[in-house]
Amino acid sequence: MTDSVVCGLIGAGIGPSLTPSLHEVEGARQGLDYTYRRIDLDQLGSTVADLPRLVRDARDLGFRGLNITHPAKQAVIECLDELAPDAARLGAVNTVLFDEGRTIGYNTDWTGFGRNFDRGLPGARVDRVVQLGAGGAGAAVAYAMSTRETRNLVIVDYERARARRLADAMAVLFPAARIDSADPADLPELLTDANGLVHATPMGMAEHPGSAVPAALLRPDLWVAEVVYRPLDTELLRAARNVGARTLGGGGMAVYQAVDAFRLFTGIEPDADRMYAHLTDLVRREELEAVR
Ligand code: NAD
Repeated sequence: MTDSVVCGLIGAGIGPSLTPSLHEVEGARQGLDYTYRRIDLDQLGSTVADLPRLVRDARDLGFRGLNITHPAKQAVIECLDELAPDAARLGAVNTVLFDEGRTIGYNTDWTGFGRNFDRGLPGARVDRVVQLGAGGAGAAVAYAMSTRETRNLVIVDYERARARRLADAMAVLFPAARIDSADPADLPELLTDANGLVHATPMGMAEHPGSAVPAALLRPDLWVAEVVYRPLDTELLRAARNVGARTLGGGGMAVYQAVDAFRLFTGIEPDADRMYAHLTDLVRREELEAVR
């Protein structure tokens, strides 16, 4: 055993998060004495206003790093000494590293989506992409697609102003691309000449059953990438497979954001396939318990 590693997750309502288990089990398999704590704002009766104190306490108590989730990904930036360039451009941090007294923010949501995309849909054409959902996951996904040379990205959300804000922000960051927003009613036309569709709304989760995309709009030559991973297989993915389209599930994004954070925390390259198998196991177990 090497020195102990203590990390944590700050967010609200994070009881069901699978990230602590992904880190701890992989840490043990790497021979580390690795502890990953939940720091739940709701349970502590805290808000984002308490973040400076919580981050400082974690650093002073010898934590190696923190993951940050809703609603703290933007607010945590005020608590940092330094920001990795991509996290600064994206304006969101999901990983904080304590490095020789300095507190440094990273974003592994977008790298997680990107690595999952490259691995799961190799060779996919990305010139024209339609993205559904302009929330937190949507921002990471839009950034990842833009770094993969998407020339034409259209962001669709039924909160039209949200879609416009994200498209405008991405257009500033990636001036060589054409990045627009549109209304869900425009989907049939938008998808006609798209290479791929990225789904980043909560539709398809147990609490939001169904699909945000009518099956009739799917085609064999339109790849579909999903961010929802609870369940691992969604109605949208099934419909896309049914028409013979290439698909990518959301589980890989959840795993790779943890893979990239684990590497930052420990300096060790974790076994991504083993972590993916672990995530699959955790989600399947959850699904079985839900139907009992
Ligand atoms: P969010 O609430 O911040 O944003 C969701 C957006 O989707 C909102 O802007 C909403 O208006 C829009 N929307 C909802 N239904 C829609 C529909 N039918 N048509 C058009 N727009 C619609 O949520 P988020 O944090 O971005 O999370 C979205 C999903 O991504 C959740 O299911 C979450 O679990 C998942 N997620 C996955 C990962 C991963 O690692 N795979 C990471 C983060 C989030």
